Amino acid sequence: MSRIKAEYLWLDGVKPTSKLRSKTKILEGVVGRLEDIPVWGFDGSSTEQAAGHSSDCLLKPVHYVPDPIRGGEHIIIMCEVLSPEGIPHVSNTRARLRELTEKTLVQEPWFGIEQEYTMMQGGKPLGWPKDGYPRPQGDYYCGVGAEMVSGRALVEAHMEACLKAGLKFCGVNAEVMLGQWEFQIGPLPPLRAADELWIARWLMLRLGEDMGIEISLAPKPVMGDWNGTGGHTNFSTGAMRDPGGIAVIDAACRALGERHEKHIAVYGDGNEKRLTGKHETCSIREFRYGVSDRGASIRIPIFSAKNGCGYLEDRRPAANADPYQVCAIILETVCVGG
Ligand code: ADP
Ligand code: MN
Ligand code: MN
Ligand code: MN
Repeated sequence: MSRIKAEYLWLDGVKPTSKLRSKTKILEGVVGRLEDIPVWGFDGSSTEQAAGHSSDCLLKPVHYVPDPIRGGEHIIIMCEVLSPEGIPHVSNTRARLRELTEKTLVQEPWFGIEQEYTMMQGGKPLGWPKDGYPRPQGDYYCGVGAEMVSGRALVEAHMEACLKAGLKFCGVNAEVMLGQWEFQIGPLPPLRAADELWIARWLMLRLGEDMGIEISLAPKPVMGDWNGTGGHTNFSTGAMRDPGGIAVIDAACRALGERHEKHIAVYGDGNEKRLTGKHETCSIREFRYGVSDRGASIRIPIFSAKNGCGYLEDRRPAANADPYQVCAIILETVCVGG
């Protein structure tokens, strides 16, 4: 009988930004479908999800993939946190996205998320000199060469792991600041996009352990003339992707503008340090959308404008935003109507 190492992942209750936690359970037998994976529990008093006197929380498996690090039949499982009574815990932001995903199914929403992040070592971005700063930004973006990039070994290992796990991983690039990178997931239906992003984040953090590299999702890891770190969220519905969809994209942009503050509230803690109006961002106090405009809140990619259909890019979410909440509020605003 096979013994499967099952890594259970969940989001903790730390405020304002939940972090990933995980632990391993050995499963005896075969896992062929989600229902084969047992519900498990953990000590919620250690994750800011319960008080010490009544500390049990439940881990309900909701999506699993092959574990590319352990290989074999081992698996990684994204879980929802439930109270002992079996209802979603207050920290369980996936529950809301689950409801909205069901409610908006007929509109066929897809998300594609660009995850920027910064590799860190010794309190500094990877590759930065011990004292002072590297050359100003300008030639690091998509650069090649030892003086241009740092951390590519981890980028490659992560990409390989994501593909082995079967994630819909669609690309990587070196970013504007030295030590800063991006990967992209999607396009996928809402729950799937967010689950896959959380699993991809976990894989990045986990592989970073082996290389002594910390991963920061801070929206502005270095103050000054250095780019912040975003989580651009690309979105479309069936109607946006169909011929003439540009009118639907335009209407969605206007709806998004009506609820700017509500969106910003869930687009990541510390995002005000990043959305300054500089470094390819729009000020957090403004809302603008436009074709090809990387200084806008929402950008309509040039191909969508040219083809008359496609998708929009919400450039506001920060790297540390919770994709469950980001996708949920976009669905709420665009597909449900606020
Ligand atoms: P950028 O030019 O903004 O850097 P990227 O190539 O990094 O763009 O990322 C594009 C993102 O858009 C990817 O995450 C991809 O999955 C997503 N995407 C592509 N087509 C669609 C679509 N029709 N609906 C939603 N997202 C999409
Ligand atoms: Mn990108
Ligand atoms: Mn980018
Ligand atoms: Mn982008």
